[in-house]
Amino acid sequence: MNNGLLVVLSGPSGSGKDTVLKGVLEKMDGDAFLSVSMTTRAMRRGEREGVDYFFVSKEQFQKNIENDLMLEYAKYGSNYYGTPIGPVKDVLKSGKTVFLNIEVQGGANIRRLMPEAVQIFIAPPSRDELERRLRKRGTESEECICERLRIAEEEMRRADEYDFVVVNDVLEDAVEEVLSIVKHAVKQ
Ligand code: 5GP
Repeated sequence: MNNGLLVVLSGPSGSGKDTVLKGVLEKMDGDAFLSVSMTTRAMRRGEREGVDYFFVSKEQFQKNIENDLMLEYAKYGSNYYGTPIGPVKDVLKSGKTVFLNIEVQGGANIRRLMPEAVQIFIAPPSRDELERRLRKRGTESEECICERLRIAEEEMRRADEYDFVVVNDVLEDAVEEVLSIVKHAVKQ
């Protein structure tokens, strides 16, 4: 799409990828942006419209797909999630870095569409730790936690499709690892 770098970050719910990304964005200070996705899932407590997600109905989501407004999208659990194309294009045109925090089907779609994108998978140190983090977060019902753990197992099996796998055991180390991958890719 131009000169900026596109970075895909995937990893199971509970891997801590949102926190890693937050640390990376703070350190990149204005040189990198996070794409705000669109979703049909309900807003969680503390989330903000247009900051965490654009929250839309299934009908609106469908319309955006039909109007070619989405770079990629996927169904995760019973909801749809997708990347609006416009802002990604704008950041890439400006020569800056844009991060997509997306699940593995979306990651595979981007790999086909934009093979030049850097793909990073954030893995938890273990399955037990993943479950502990998901429960500690307290944002999901028991049913939803079980579904997320089931999806996590599928996602972990696809980690080797990514260019890099970063294990998020110590947060600061994971942030530094992602930063070094991105800095290296920007230089190339
Ligand atoms: P959550 O409901 O926990 O916010 O997100 C669930 C999953 O959807 C996470 O793995 C997250 O990375 C992924 N996701 C968020 N936005 C997008 C998107 O725009 N496209 C795709 N394919 N996945 C997304």
